[in-house]
Amino acid sequence: MTSSPCRLCGQPVSRSFVDLGLSPLANSFVRAEDLHKKEAFYPLHVYVCDRCLLVQLDEFESPEHIFSDYAYFSSFADAWLKHCREYADRMVPRLGLTAASQVVEIASNDGYLLQYFKPHGVPILGVEPAENVAKVAIEKGVPTEVAFFGADTARALRARGVAADLIAANNVLAHVPRLRDFAEGFRILLKPEGTVTIEVPHLLRLVAENQFDTIYHEHFSYFSLLVLEQLFTDVGMRIVDVEELWTHGGSLRVFVRHAAQADTPTPAVADVLGRERQAGLDRVETYDRFAAQVVRTKCDVLAFFVEAARAGKRVVGYGAPAKGNTLLNYCGIGPELMAFTVDRSPHKQGRFLPGTRIPVRSPADLLAARPDFVFILPWNLRDEIVEQMTAIRAWGGRFVVPIPTLGVF
Ligand SMILES: [Zn+2]
Repeated sequence: MTSSPCRLCGQPVSRSFVDLGLSPLANSFVRAEDLHKKEAFYPLHVYVCDRCLLVQLDEFESPEHIFSDYAYFSSFADAWLKHCREYADRMVPRLGLTAASQVVEIASNDGYLLQYFKPHGVPILGVEPAENVAKVAIEKGVPTEVAFFGADTARALRARGVAADLIAANNVLAHVPRLRDFAEGFRILLKPEGTVTIEVPHLLRLVAENQFDTIYHEHFSYFSLLVLEQLFTDVGMRIVDVEELWTHGGSLRVFVRHAAQADTPTPAVADVLGRERQAGLDRVETYDRFAAQVVRTKCDVLAFFVEAARAGKRVVGYGAPAKGNTLLNYCGIGPELMAFTVDRSPHKQGRFLPGTRIPVRSPADLLAARPDFVFILPWNLRDEIVEQMTAIRAWGGRFVVPIPTLGVF
């Protein structure tokens, strides 16, 4: 039983989806000078609402605490930046955006997405709650409002004359504690003819492909299109189109407009909804089966590390994503089994993974260590990483991915 009501419909929530035990905040990387201090661990137990079927975590900590000094900077993965540039290049002609339009991005991070609208001459504004991250964006020439988004922020912006032709909310909905208030914010800030695009990891893929490590405390909710439809209908908006993306192991890009102005939804909307029903996401019994497959993966991961250690093989990690921290903490893997991991982000190098205290170094250190196995934590970027690290083949090094099932290649 959770202590808080359902984030979407308000009903008490008591049905377990999966229990990943105790875990620290997945993005709270530990500094060397803090290694002797304690860390806070919180239950990582996911529930599903019997009534609206929103998959969600219990509320455990205020968003202000989680996001005030966020170590995640978006601008360090090539494939990710390409995805962002393509989005901007497509939205400008599709929505007819001009110098008289306004693009607003919610949770705009360091300006990694909005920067691609600048060459098109379209006015941009970011809304970002983490002050240190917003500062980086402003220094890069991306105007940024330091705030949590919701109805109040939308009203404040509206009062200053800001009204959006396009609101981009990519990979933020999962972090939102009050979903309805957030959707209200869209309704208030969006011009009558405007469009909101939202990107969320797709629950259908999480369930079908065993992506349990994408569960972490900063992700309060996990969305099907069925659930998103309920959310937007509730505030007088309508989903008019949906695209399926490769990002984060499989995401949805959902196009939303004011219901009064909306066109007939494209066939893609009915197609995704149909596949979700076929997979049983409209029936609560489906959600009861997920936990067992997660335990099977834990056994496979432990078996790999135990076998490698007993054979005297050296395993080094690649990447320090939030999902890696869920996986390593849930499976109980520490530096005794994986000596260190590497990451291209200088903000993570020199720190230690939360909970497991595995050191984070630079990719050059990986090559110098000549490991037998490179354990890829951001498995969604696996092709890019294998290409970057192909030099390990010279000494017979191999790659390992844990998800959807453990594979060595
Ligand atoms: Zn509910």
